[in-house]
Amino acid sequence: MAVTRSWVESALGSDFPLENLPLGVFQRRPGVRCVGTAIGDRILDLRAAADAGLLKNEVAAACRQDILNALMAMGRDASRELRTRLTELLSDSAARKHVEPLLVRQADAEMLLPAKIGDYTDFYASIYHATNVGRLFRPENPLLPNYKWVPIGYHGRASSIVVSEAEIQRPNGQTKAADAVEPKFGPSRMLDYELEVGFFVGPGNALGEAIPLREAEEHIFGLCLLNDWSARDIQAWEYQPLGPFLAKNFATTISPWVVTMEALEPFRAEAFKRPEGDPAPLEYLSDERDRERGGFDITLEVWLRTAQMRSAGADAVRVSKGNLRDLYWTLAQMLTHHTSNGCDLEPGDLLASGTVSGATADSLGCLLEITQRGARPLVLPDGETRKFLEDGDEVILRGYCEREGQVRIGFGECKGTVVG
Ligand code: CA
Repeated sequence: MAVTRSWVESALGSDFPLENLPLGVFQRRPGVRCVGTAIGDRILDLRAAADAGLLKNEVAAACRQDILNALMAMGRDASRELRTRLTELLSDSAARKHVEPLLVRQADAEMLLPAKIGDYTDFYASIYHATNVGRLFRPENPLLPNYKWVPIGYHGRASSIVVSEAEIQRPNGQTKAADAVEPKFGPSRMLDYELEVGFFVGPGNALGEAIPLREAEEHIFGLCLLNDWSARDIQAWEYQPLGPFLAKNFATTISPWVVTMEALEPFRAEAFKRPEGDPAPLEYLSDERDRERGGFDITLEVWLRTAQMRSAGADAVRVSKGNLRDLYWTLAQMLTHHTSNGCDLEPGDLLASGTVSGATADSLGCLLEITQRGARPLVLPDGETRKFLEDGDEVILRGYCEREGQVRIGFGECKGTVVG
């Protein structure tokens, strides 16, 4: 592999080497929002790069916006063109004198939501998660009969999506204990996280025009980490018959950097291998290329730091480690299914994978599964235990891609602290 190095020294070995170039929106002063790309511990200000004549035409115009939607709308060719240009600018020593003054220290910038998210849909694509959760409620029949035929999802709430580091207010809601006669209203006592990956819609489709599976990836701009905070006690009482509502829509945290499909190309994987006896997907969800390369080899981790750990100066501890390869449905299948009835997706819409859990006990993507709904509390190194999240708990999601012969890339962090 011919390795091109960036002249930004912190790039190599970080989550953001030259091979990554994720896109996001940042501000140095309130109200001055700029599109940027992360490189090492710096951000290249793409508005400044456009103003300096370093980017061209429509791509330059999109990079002058204060949000990524315009770039997302332009499609994968524009993403590829921008990536090629940024690679040149950040590796060519002759470009250095023009580009270096446009770098901002990440420590000096505040990250903002990368896009104006018009709509948000959350899927349920991990069969391990669906089975584990189903087993808690229906031990005899954990997986519902539709699961292997239809990518299950629900419409989430875009307005309460926040970017990493925003505090998470413990939600109030109606809950009903199993032995209680009536529900009561008050703070959730079973607050949980869900380890997920979000994916942003690129150009999208007109109302009434479905996106075929073979074209679906042209409509995926890039991926981020996503924490679908969930109040399990509120959820248990409200979810029938129409599914999640207030148990989910009080907050969803995403990581600020969108890792593009181009950066993820070396880390593509086969789609999930359906076990013998599982039905083949219906024709509109079936495509040779998607079977061969529809998966993503992305390691996903959850780390927890309690208030007690923080005051003792202790580091966060990892509570699980999974991989996006373990999804039963590919991202492309989810996107195609979403549009299959003619529903239109718009640039900047956010879709999410659902909780990513694997087959093993150390790869479960939420506390509901890890603690068996509180029956087996998680024991932390300092002796504290957790059934669900307590006030002061900080949840940190991390994601990265590693493969022999490839430069490792990462997603940065998606974190939030629960406040009462
Ligand atoms: Ca979820």
